[in-house]
Amino acid sequence: MPILEAHDVSKQYKLSEQVTISALTHVNFHADRGELVAIRGPSGSGKSTLLHVLGGMDRPTSGEIALDGQPLSRLSDRELTLLRRRKVGFIFQFFNLIPTLNTEENILLPLLIDGKRKTQCLPRLDEIVSLVGLDHRRQHRPEQLSGGEQQRVAIARALIAEPSLILADEPTGNLDSAMGLEIIELLKRLATTYAQAIVVVTHDPRVAEH
Ligand code: ADP
Ligand code: MG
Repeated sequence: MPILEAHDVSKQYKLSEQVTISALTHVNFHADRGELVAIRGPSGSGKSTLLHVLGGMDRPTSGEIALDGQPLSRLSDRELTLLRRRKVGFIFQFFNLIPTLNTEENILLPLLIDGKRKTQCLPRLDEIVSLVGLDHRRQHRPEQLSGGEQQRVAIARALIAEPSLILADEPTGNLDSAMGLEIIELLKRLATTYAQAIVVVTHDPRVAEH
């Protein structure tokens, strides 16, 4: 059974009575255990929309998405929030870290929101901070970190709860090309350990090649 399955998924944005934008039309897609999938397309082609519906951040207009065999359309908003929290890790182009929290606090956030106590999470935190190479930046706030370091924090945050699925939206889009490739290498290395599948969308052909 695939980790993630999209069947005939369409998404329309209705702007007014006269204007509807079709962002996705009849998309079929699946990602299997251990897979890293890159989806490439120009700006405006529906990549972010696709990730939002795949990860349960938004609902499709029609079609069905199943995560770990569970059809998302049958879940209430509350159930969808819980599933997203426990099974999906998101990585964004602009990192989306909380500016007032330091590296450790940003990384731990998904576990704390899920009701875990900090002491319970510390061994896991130490492990993941080391793996993303941020041992020397644990107390820094985002503004005190480089772009590449901020994306490492975001990767650690996405992976800390060992989600089934990682969704990355242009994760290298705000980094220079050398740092972008480093981040993709890191994602590839970690995703196979901590996540069961990873989907990266990008407009950058060099990133997609990886
Ligand atoms: P990409 O990430 O590939 O650049 P998007 O998924 O952001 O593409 O957008 C696909 C299309 O849907 C674009 O035409 C965009 O303007 C439109 N769109 C995206 N989000 C919204 C929204 N919330 N409301 C209306 N239109 C939207
Ligand atoms: Mg986008």
